[in-house]
Order: sequence, then structure tokens, then C-alpha cells
Amino acid sequence: MEVKCINNAASDNNTYIITQNQHALIIDPSCTDGRIQSTLSPLSVDMIFLTHGHYDHFTGLMPLHRKYADVPIYLNAADHGLAAGDPPLFGNHNQIRIDPLILTDLSEGTIHWQGMDIDIYHMPGHSPGSLVYHIGQYLFTGDVLFDDSIGRDDLPLGNGMDLRNSLKRFAMFDGSTIICPGHGPDSTMDQQWKTNPYLMHIHH
Ligand SMILES: [Zn+2]
Repeated sequence: MEVKCINNAASDNNTYIITQNQHALIIDPSCTDGRIQSTLSPLSVDMIFLTHGHYDHFTGLMPLHRKYADVPIYLNAADHGLAAGDPPLFGNHNQIRIDPLILTDLSEGTIHWQGMDIDIYHMPGHSPGSLVYHIGQYLFTGDVLFDDSIGRDDLPLGNGMDLRNSLKRFAMFDGSTIICPGHGPDSTMDQQWKTNPYLMHIHH
């Protein structure tokens, strides 16, 4: 298994492409300059996962959807409204929207893929439908957990109590787990327990 991170410098959003046996998964296709397509070209694309419904995480989705129309696009149903621009993020009524008809609901559980398990955790708070994906030793945390920070809870449909409860659940992951956030650099769980001011008080 290989993980490639493609950063969209304009918004500091990370797109992740996970490959195994010439098959690929995409997490948060935010990059718009063709780097996703060129990475994918020799591969068979199986699934697209969205961590949550904020548009900066799917600015590069529609060209992919046109090319890979049969590939499912997964997003927890609690965020389908946000992804459709209701309510709009940052009051931006011109944001990129996704028609919920092209989305497939995904909740906590496991998907088997290419001999691996993709474990999905529902971690609301930054948004009601935020999902965290655990694949191999990698944890794709979207805007729930960043290197030494966490996602905002003051955006539309955010909830601080939910976010605090979600953060406690990171105690289940091994310290060597590699954190791949929606923005900013990667890290490890061990490092976050030491230096992330929002995690330091959580018993793990
Ligand atoms: Zn967000």
C-alpha cells in the first residue's frame, strides 16, 4: 500500500491517493490542476471518500466524477446538505456544490478493499457527518484532527461538545499511527499526544 499526498497550495487542502495492486482510492479530491488525474492514469479507481461536506475538500471532484462516473462517492448523510451548499460555508452562496444524488451515504463500519480493511469512524463536531478513515497504519482525519490543532467547531452545524467527544476516541489508535489531515503536515498519534494542546488532557 502506498499513500500519496497532493497539496492544493491555494487552500492548503490535502488530497490523498491510496494505491494497492494497481487499484486506487481517493480521499478529498481538492486539487484542481491535473495532478490527481496524472497520478491516477495508470490505475483502476475504485472509490472516492469525502471526510466531510465542506467544499474546499471537493473542489477537484467533478472532473473526476465525469471521468469515473461509476465510481462511488462516499459522504456521511449528515453532511449531504452542507455539500449541497445548505447551509453555505463562510456564507459563500457561490460555493462549489455537490448534488446529493451522486453521493452514497457512509457511516461507521468496515469496507474490505484489495485485501485490506478500511475502517470508518463517525467523528462529528467540526461537521455533523465528519468521517475518519483508518487504512493500514494511516489515519485520514479530515478537519477533525490536525498536526497540533483541531478543526473549528463554530462553522454552520458545528458542535463543540460533539468534537470533544470525538477527540477522546483517538485514544483507540496505536501511537505509531500516521495522521494524515485535511490541511497541513502529517504527524503521528504519539506526537499528537505530546504536543497537541487539544489532546494533551485526554487519557489515552
Ligand atoms: Zn471543514
